[in-house]
Amino acid sequence: MRRRDFCELMAASAGSYIPATFGLRLLCGAPLNASSPETSTPWPAKANYQNNREPLLPTKYVKLRLGTVRPTGWLRDQLKVQANGLTSHLNTVWGVVEDSGWKGDAGRNVTPECCTPRFVPRWLEGLTALAGVLDDDRLKALADPYMQYILTVRDLATVTPSAIAWAHLGRSLPDYYDITGDARAIALARRILDYTDSVRNSSDMAVVDPGRLGMLLSFGWWYYNRSGDHDILALMERCTKRCVADWKNYFVHFPEDPKYFAHFPDVTAEKSPEEPPSQWTRHGVNVTQAIQYPVLHYLMSKDETDKDNVLQGLANLDKGYGQVGARWNADEWLASTDPIQGTELCDVEELLYSLEKSFEAIGEPSFGDRIEQLMFNAFPGTCTADMWAHQYDQQANQVLVSVAKRPWHLNDDTSNIYGFTPNFPCCLANMHSPWPRYIQSMWMATADSGLVAALYGPCRLQAMVGEGSTVDITEETDYPFSDRIRFTIHNEHPVSFPIYFRIPSWANRAELSVSGELGPRHPQRGTCFKLERVWKSGDVVTLCFNFKVRTETRRNNAVAVAWGPLYFVLRIGESFERITVLGGVPTPPGCVNWRIAPTTAWNYALAIDRNHPQCTLATSRISSMPFAQKGEPVKLPGADEFIPWQEDVPFVLKVKARQVPQWGMHGANAAAVPLSPVNADSPETLVELIPYGCSRLRISEFPTV
Ligand SMILES: [Zn+2]
Repeated sequence: MRRRDFCELMAASAGSYIPATFGLRLLCGAPLNASSPETSTPWPAKANYQNNREPLLPTKYVKLRLGTVRPTGWLRDQLKVQANGLTSHLNTVWGVVEDSGWKGDAGRNVTPECCTPRFVPRWLEGLTALAGVLDDDRLKALADPYMQYILTVRDLATVTPSAIAWAHLGRSLPDYYDITGDARAIALARRILDYTDSVRNSSDMAVVDPGRLGMLLSFGWWYYNRSGDHDILALMERCTKRCVADWKNYFVHFPEDPKYFAHFPDVTAEKSPEEPPSQWTRHGVNVTQAIQYPVLHYLMSKDETDKDNVLQGLANLDKGYGQVGARWNADEWLASTDPIQGTELCDVEELLYSLEKSFEAIGEPSFGDRIEQLMFNAFPGTCTADMWAHQYDQQANQVLVSVAKRPWHLNDDTSNIYGFTPNFPCCLANMHSPWPRYIQSMWMATADSGLVAALYGPCRLQAMVGEGSTVDITEETDYPFSDRIRFTIHNEHPVSFPIYFRIPSWANRAELSVSGELGPRHPQRGTCFKLERVWKSGDVVTLCFNFKVRTETRRNNAVAVAWGPLYFVLRIGESFERITVLGGVPTPPGCVNWRIAPTTAWNYALAIDRNHPQCTLATSRISSMPFAQKGEPVKLPGADEFIPWQEDVPFVLKVKARQVPQWGMHGANAAAVPLSPVNADSPETLVELIPYGCSRLRISEFPTV
């Protein structure tokens, strides 16, 4: 997509939101299908970790200070891969970051043109979180010149008039404060809130986007809790109430309009179809960001419909646009359930952020399930394993990565290339925060002076529990490549406190065993199971989820295969070819664009019983580049060139299948999945399925024989 097109669209859609009066229909008794999580839990005054100040409701859980949870095992390897990839090189390979008004280079890359002012804050958000999670001085030093300048800026508009760009910067302030304790971060948060308040009625989309004013809620509450500044409550209400009301209405009512479910197959259109104003709410990043707004607003409004409407919106979005791994098709605009439609990397990143904030706020366990699904499938699947390249749009059925016209709305022919800036640079700026924020969200504090294991993976932490005791916990696991986790408690003196364990909805009669106790407990899936006892140093909890291979029925009666949070896709031979110029823009030295063509057949129908899928499972050591497939070209730390990775994926399923000769290409994509069951006379064979996140070419939705 040309930048100018995008800017024109943004300008054309200014102020285009569904009238808040639509909400009256819900208040008059429209049924809610989604179950509500329990209401807010009181937070004791003498807790180890502070919650919201009154009159805000307390959040269900409280995130621990950045750096409290340290990744170990494969998660540490993955974070190191990121730290050695583009995240630590963006300031030398991308002029937008290298010379920037965000570090005082006057007039550089901060013009009000479209999204450019947001790029540096988005990179800083990920860089700061990564530096904190790894306690990496090199990464901290990279962010420092920017933060040192930004914290001194009094007139924010001199850097950029974009309030949304400043809101992105605001999201990084809590992490920066955690690392440095620099009180200037609190003062800057106030200046951002004041500036946004002063421009909130502007009709200039380069200054304020009214559909994104809800972004203030995340760092606005952080500011209030640290300052006690009561004036901010009225400001937040002024700035966010309308935005939140509009999104609530959208989440509840959009499925009633058949337009929202329309497919956009018009690959020949010279120009994007005219969008009626209300369809701006179909923009993927707008929608994924907005998931958090009503939930965070609920903390102030105490209006239960704020969070209930979001739960209903998630279900509606799944129904209209759902893809494997909890993402939604949105190749700029939300678009159908077809597995060849695209999902922008920024949609995945923003949905992760929304769900992490929302889980902390209301503790809905299914949000944890979604976070793990996005984190272990869509996000690694849309980056190369070495994190030196990314896509703009990923596909569930992606059999050719190339510059070609695809039936996507707005996004250009380069969008599914793994490269430096396919289609548009927003994803290049936005690919840095998902992994470190996942680590930050793995453990949180509870109202009863305990801890909740919210998201799983190998890590260790030191936290306060009980009446101010310190406890160390090591979490040893290969999760999600294993369904078994071992937690070991270390403390100086025995201490009583609860640990809550999120039990994913994919668990099968989960078993939780505690050292010294007879027999396992069987916590219910879809809950956070409370285990309270007097913990002694050396106590061990073993949690086994007993995942089974399961199937999901998808569009055209296709089938998808999953195990735990992982989705499994057909292993397709991948031939990588470098493209040095993309969209007319030369790629910077050291960076790369990949065209990837299949070298093996991909048109298989699975010969499996959907209710009792028979598969052979094989696991192997997780390599130091956890999402690399053998042969994928990768760049190692300090190297100039890309070399083929020598180790294979950590998990393979083998299933019976038959080739379907009549299923071929349609343009640059796999044709629609034939309606199952298909007639296939080809001989039965065994095919390999690998984790979605390890694939650059894939079939995720299969026909069956
Ligand atoms: Zn993007």
